[in-house]
Amino acid sequence: MVTREMNPGFRIARRHGILKCFSNNQLHFHRNLPMTTTDRLFLTVDQAVDAIQRDLEQYPIQWHLVASLVPIVFGDGAYVTGYPTKGTIWLKTPDQKTPILVDDKQIRQRIIHRLKAAPPTSAKLSEICTRVFQTSAIAAQQGALSGVSIETGMDRFDCLQCGRCCRSLDYRDGCSLEDYRRWQRLGRTDILRWVGVINECGQAVACRIWMVPGTNRFADACPWLKRGDRPDRYVCTIHDVRPSICRQYPGSRKHARLTGCMGV
Ligand code: SF4
Ligand code: SF4
Repeated sequence: MVTREMNPGFRIARRHGILKCFSNNQLHFHRNLPMTTTDRLFLTVDQAVDAIQRDLEQYPIQWHLVASLVPIVFGDGAYVTGYPTKGTIWLKTPDQKTPILVDDKQIRQRIIHRLKAAPPTSAKLSEICTRVFQTSAIAAQQGALSGVSIETGMDRFDCLQCGRCCRSLDYRDGCSLEDYRRWQRLGRTDILRWVGVINECGQAVACRIWMVPGTNRFADACPWLKRGDRPDRYVCTIHDVRPSICRQYPGSRKHARLTGCMGV
């Protein structure tokens, strides 16, 4: 099952408050946020490389992307050719006399290894991020930190309330302890009944959703998803206190596109 989880590099940025997230004030299913400017996030060089790695690992091989990254990452004259669907990829870099045979996993590993071994300048990183995240990325500075500022495009995102993400993406491990404690603070025993808590030495260490109350079985569907006022629309009946993984979806236009979200 495709995970609903956003690129973890982006998630880290959100958790540390680096992401400035705004949206218009229409009623959204997943996003109901105040008015407006551009939804951007700042990533340090290390965070950006981590986000690139997660992106390349998260989705099946993105051949056109990989082919366009190779000359930027390895330098002029580097290229890939071959048949990626058959696992036959030839990689030529300036420091090799002849192309070498790699598979789709190895080519991604080599790109990441190169980016970690020789971190790119902010300018080059912005070019890479523009391609990887299919959006505008510019070199940026935050205090003493160099990095990139990435536009997520989510300020213009409109959820169609189709409910697809709630029905087809995997969120079972997406419930955080913060979610769990928030529901405890709010006295939401109705929600807590559906949460499986993993304890170690009497301490809650992880949660899973949504478990049929009184069983060890996952519910077939999210119990909080209901039909809306139109047959093709759905609503989340715990919208205001929904888990953070639901709150954060989709994290970017690319995340939406590659996980089947039809929002516009
Ligand atoms: S799949 Fe996209 S458009 Fe549909 S409900 Fe989820 S966020 Fe909204
Ligand atoms: S809690 Fe709400 S947003 Fe999350 S999967 Fe269920 S219905 Fe969808």
